[in-house]
Amino acid sequence: EAILLDGCSAPASAASAEVSARDARPVLRERGQREVFCGLTGIIWLHRKMQDAFFLVVGSRTCAHLLQSAAGVMIFAEPRFATAIMEERDLAGMVDAQDELDRVVNRLLERRPDIKTLFLVGSCPSEVIKLDLAKAAQRLGAVHMPRVRILNYSGSGIETTFTQGEDACLAALVPVMPALPAGAPKELLIVGSLPDIVEDQFLRLFAQMGIDKVGCLPARNARDLPAVGPNTRYLLAQPFLGETAMALEGRGAQRLDALFPFGAEGTTSWLRAAASEFGVDDALFESVIGPGRERARLALAKLRTQLEGKRISFLPDSQLEIPLARFLQDELGMEMVEIGTPYLHRAHLARELERFGPQVRLSEGQHVERQLDRVREDRPDITVCGLGLANPLEMEGLTTKWAIELVFSPIHGFEQAADLAELFARPLRRRDMLEV
Ligand code: SF4
Repeated sequence: EAILLDGCSAPASAASAEVSARDARPVLRERGQREVFCGLTGIIWLHRKMQDAFFLVVGSRTCAHLLQSAAGVMIFAEPRFATAIMEERDLAGMVDAQDELDRVVNRLLERRPDIKTLFLVGSCPSEVIKLDLAKAAQRLGAVHMPRVRILNYSGSGIETTFTQGEDACLAALVPVMPALPAGAPKELLIVGSLPDIVEDQFLRLFAQMGIDKVGCLPARNARDLPAVGPNTRYLLAQPFLGETAMALEGRGAQRLDALFPFGAEGTTSWLRAAASEFGVDDALFESVIGPGRERARLALAKLRTQLEGKRISFLPDSQLEIPLARFLQDELGMEMVEIGTPYLHRAHLARELERFGPQVRLSEGQHVERQLDRVREDRPDITVCGLGLANPLEMEGLTTKWAIELVFSPIHGFEQAADLAELFARPLRRRDMLEV
């Protein structure tokens, strides 16, 4: 098979194809024009999760428009995010942007005593003029601590795709997590922002297994950060948290290797990794998770008839692509054509990757034109892609699913497994009805 690598037109050679130790398949590397939201988008779900945090984007009017239109109906009287708009004077270096920022932050914190953690979020414009937000966070933190903790991270589209905004934000929290003393009993940490309802389901299951020391990153109140140390064992709830994982490991925490908690099998593997680590016996584990797993299996069986044998392609977007593809293939019988992902974290995804046969095409990175050409040639039954690509593909008679919906919907765990499958079944049903 001729595989184009890194924008060159030569067929892949064994030497140029990237090969993993556990999975020797070649991965198509794409580097070209990208069509994804930037890391600022993560603020939309993070501000709802961390209820005492405020996100101040230091950016342009474009950044403000992105946030406002992405947040849409979610704007309310006292929002927990805003944009400090950089004007031409700032960009031209005619004023001291640091002074301006101090003024904006001081005014904001005076007016909003409910803010306990303030994130200064970098954007493309702030990075282009090299505005040092780490320095600003330090300077302002010295003034406003202990009432307000001030942190910074980058959501710039130059550096991040949209889920990496969450990764950068959580990584910024890791250094300020309290230390778990070396002799303390082992604690479990769930890493990744989950809707509260889903997080509560997982916490209940762990409590029933007798694992009651469980922290969550992010915590619902950013000031109540869980402790971390060499006795922390963490489970990634999201596959896009490479930087956060590295920061946690820097503080001694150890990752529990598992499938990601999508579908009955993924959720079982994820829960089992913690159960094994914390010495939960098999009978107790089965009695705790059995009913939920059974409900998920039954609900999925009904949707399997609609999805089995259907061909699907993922364009690179959310970094959820690989675990979702595994779920759709293994539990619903869908056929993978291409699974594209912006970044492939081989260690975190090793177990997921083992599930795919050699016929499944894997790609990493984006070259939007070439990827669209392949979709047109493959004509899958359904293509998962960004908002901007969905309409043109629909116009060409291809059925699509918006990748961003998968990030905004509760899709983890047993109780949400059927809802997750339904997100893929619905566009196919709509297509069938339109054809009739
Ligand atoms: Fe656009 Fe960059 Fe602002 Fe994102 S951070 S909205 S990509 S200018």
